[in-house]
Amino acid sequence: MAAAALSKYFGDQLAVTLIESEAIGTIGVGEATIPQIRLFNSGLGIDEREFLRETSATIKLGIKFIGWHREGHSYFHSFGDVGRKIGTLPFYQYWLRYHQEGGELDLEAFSPGTLAAKHGLYGPGKTSARMPASAYHFDASKYAGFLRRYAEERGTQRIEGIVEGWDQHPESGHITRLHLDRERAVETDLILDCTGMRALLIGQALGVAYEDWSHWLPCDRAWAVPSEGNGRLDPFTRSTAREAGWQWQIPLQHRTGNGHVFSQSHISEERAADQLMANLPGAALADPRLIKFQTGRRAKFWDKNVVAIGLSSGFLEPLESTSIHLIQSGIARIVSLFPDRSFAASQQEEYNAQMAFEFRAIRDFLILHYNSTQRDTSEFWNYCRTMPLPDSLSQKLDLFDATGQIVRFNTELFDIASWLQVMWGQGRRPKHFHPMVRAVPTEDLGRYISLNAQETQAQIGALGPHEAYIRRMCAPGKASVRPG
Ligand SMILES: Cc1cc2nc3c(=O)[nH]c(=O)nc-3n(C[C@H](O)[C@H](O)[C@H](O)COP(=O)(O)OP(=O)(O)OC[C@H]3O[C@@H](n4cnc5c(N)ncnc54)[C@H](O)[C@@H]3O)c2cc1C
Repeated sequence: MAAAALSKYFGDQLAVTLIESEAIGTIGVGEATIPQIRLFNSGLGIDEREFLRETSATIKLGIKFIGWHREGHSYFHSFGDVGRKIGTLPFYQYWLRYHQEGGELDLEAFSPGTLAAKHGLYGPGKTSARMPASAYHFDASKYAGFLRRYAEERGTQRIEGIVEGWDQHPESGHITRLHLDRERAVETDLILDCTGMRALLIGQALGVAYEDWSHWLPCDRAWAVPSEGNGRLDPFTRSTAREAGWQWQIPLQHRTGNGHVFSQSHISEERAADQLMANLPGAALADPRLIKFQTGRRAKFWDKNVVAIGLSSGFLEPLESTSIHLIQSGIARIVSLFPDRSFAASQQEEYNAQMAFEFRAIRDFLILHYNSTQRDTSEFWNYCRTMPLPDSLSQKLDLFDATGQIVRFNTELFDIASWLQVMWGQGRRPKHFHPMVRAVPTEDLGRYISLNAQETQAQIGALGPHEAYIRRMCAPGKASVRPG
């Protein structure tokens, strides 16, 4: 992704060298995304049709959380707005009053993404249609291969080899040369360290510390296994709470990606693997693979002439599919704060502050899912339900509980609709709604609510089946459709 973006945006201005090792390989998981991937793809000029075909992708409208609030309960966190805003207040403030006064329509009646997901819809039906906000499920290894070709076509030089050592400038500490196997060496100016959890340069060479967040997000292992699908191409991810973690199910065109994310101090690896294998939608296509991780982030994302991108910069577990986004937002930031050879300290500070903020805001959103729950059947959930929270999250939750208000801090990734769906879905109920809502006569409130529900239904009514959309888009020679 980094090589593709730099070669596209800087052209001949930069000599981009991509060093990768097939002997080491990639982590090989990461199949769900959020809508921001569309910005990255369109910045590179990638056609959706080609993307869907090359990466075996399907559409993702959101995540269905099963059993997270309590056993037997489920809710959706889908992308896009919930209801149409009028005036200064968001729609949900009016809905809170409607709900408190006994109104029967649930939040999802106003969420095009949730209704489309439930009915397996995406893409225009017989007439033109406005698409709900969406992202993709895809094969990330195929995406990497696709972007490698893209980068090479635009002048990136790719070296297949293993970085085994480095030289540092005696005064600045900058890494000036990388030593590869077979006695090869590469001179370096700016280095993007994309070496995954090895963090070869940011961690091993420069010794930048890792801030551990596992006391808030205790899962530290995942079993991953591909399987046959359930016969449908659902346009959403399934996330099912388990005894000491959760299980993902991600439908791609040719298979389903499955995984069990768990806390090894609350369940054995063997038992976690058994729970995964007993809950697949179809026959397993391989043996399950264990991946170990630690949630947290680098103390600095950019140090000297090294910028950590991807897993080398930190890891937020995949509950809301944010890692690929964090890579893309890191790349977007490095493009906009691109250094010259003087490497101004202020540029690094700005980059580090922006990335730290983004990591923290996503971290809080993830903790919300674990903490706001009624699950009390295992030590894992008892720990999560009662653990002390970061102040930034407590402030947000207290505000919602007491007033019904949700504040989007600064440029944080997840917007009010996302926080609302998850807070509500996880069972939080505010005591009040905004006082301005009381000024609306009851009849007007009723009309506004039913108009919103009708508009959502009308939008959904114009959509066709998701499977037909994927088939159409992946057929050779058909025009692509831009999402609304
Ligand atoms: C269980 C799990 C589930 C996930 N699910 C999602 C998801 O649904 N959505 C999402 O957005 N993200 C997800 N992620 C995160 C996602 O997998 C990663 O963000 C993504 O794959 C990028 O990884 P990376 O490129 O940083 O590291 P890697 O994939 O590990 O790549 C590292 C690269 O560095 C190279 N390398 C390493 N050392 C050397 C060396 N010495 N010399 C030369 N080359 C070297 C390797 O060859 C490789 O090419 C998940 C992660 C985990 C652990």
